[in-house]
Amino acid sequence: MSEFDIPFKSDLVPQSLELGTTLKFSCHPGVSCFNECCKHADIILTPYDIIRLKDHLGITSTEFLKKYTVPYQVDGDGVPGVKFRTTNEGACLLVTDEGCSVYKNRPTACRYYPVGHMAMKAKDATTEETRYFMIQEDHCKGHLEDKEQTIQEFLNEQGVADFDNLNKEWLHLMLKKKSAGPTVGTPPESSLQLFFMASYDMDRFRRFVLSPAFKNSYDLPDSAYEVLAKEDIALMKFGTKLLKQVLFGEKTIPEKDKAWETRLETREDIWNMRKEVELARREKAEDDKYHDGEP
Ligand code: SF4
Ligand code: SF4
Repeated sequence: MSEFDIPFKSDLVPQSLELGTTLKFSCHPGVSCFNECCKHADIILTPYDIIRLKDHLGITSTEFLKKYTVPYQVDGDGVPGVKFRTTNEGACLLVTDEGCSVYKNRPTACRYYPVGHMAMKAKDATTEETRYFMIQEDHCKGHLEDKEQTIQEFLNEQGVADFDNLNKEWLHLMLKKKSAGPTVGTPPESSLQLFFMASYDMDRFRRFVLSPAFKNSYDLPDSAYEVLAKEDIALMKFGTKLLKQVLFGEKTIPEKDKAWETRLETREDIWNMRKEVELARREKAEDDKYHDGEP
């Protein structure tokens, strides 16, 4: 089996559950542990999470990444991931005494908690399946509440459907990368930088896609560029397709006949983007050194 796990915390009950399994759990402002989970936040973000959060906060993706996240490595090949930045005590920067300040647009992992889930793919299977688990942490008293519902009902109540739907292709990409293991080799640094930008930073990625170098390499109609110029979700989906093309050679985006001749120019563009991303990372590292834990 190979797997990609959406972040979940330790204290995992080692039993695979079905969507129809009954869950005894309830979380509401009256519980004695209200906000406790947000004070121990280890939340990994998906591309769609970032779009929802930066829109909620009314800031750009670049600003969001700088202010609210820290980078981490998903695997030994250096595939970049993004987690919530926390205070020195480990609290989410978005929690207030009244609860989550971005509740309507809270990320996937926050919606699922205390249900853990992971997509798994058997070695020779063509499709992956999702397994569910319970996370039972001492500080979470929701497990002592009387309310009973199935995992499916709980997930419906948490509004995960949109998130599952829009996370699907990107998670599939992650799973594919993990399943491929050493067969695809370690992606070159330029591909890893493209991965970071096309997954998490829609503002930078948009500038990259609308650049003359990109347009000279890929054969897309003007109407497609018009949509990508305006719509984050379309851009995010396009980014996942581009990454599948770059990492696994899945050619779904037509290249221009003379694409190879303009590759050099495109590489120059990637170099510029790399410099920008590196600069942002260094700034972040400096920030972290002196950060006092406040946003
Ligand atoms: S985003 Fe909201 S629910 Fe998620 S950890 Fe932060 S405060 Fe808690
Ligand atoms: S019941 Fe659990 S999920 Fe709800 S606030 Fe308490 S610790 Fe968080």
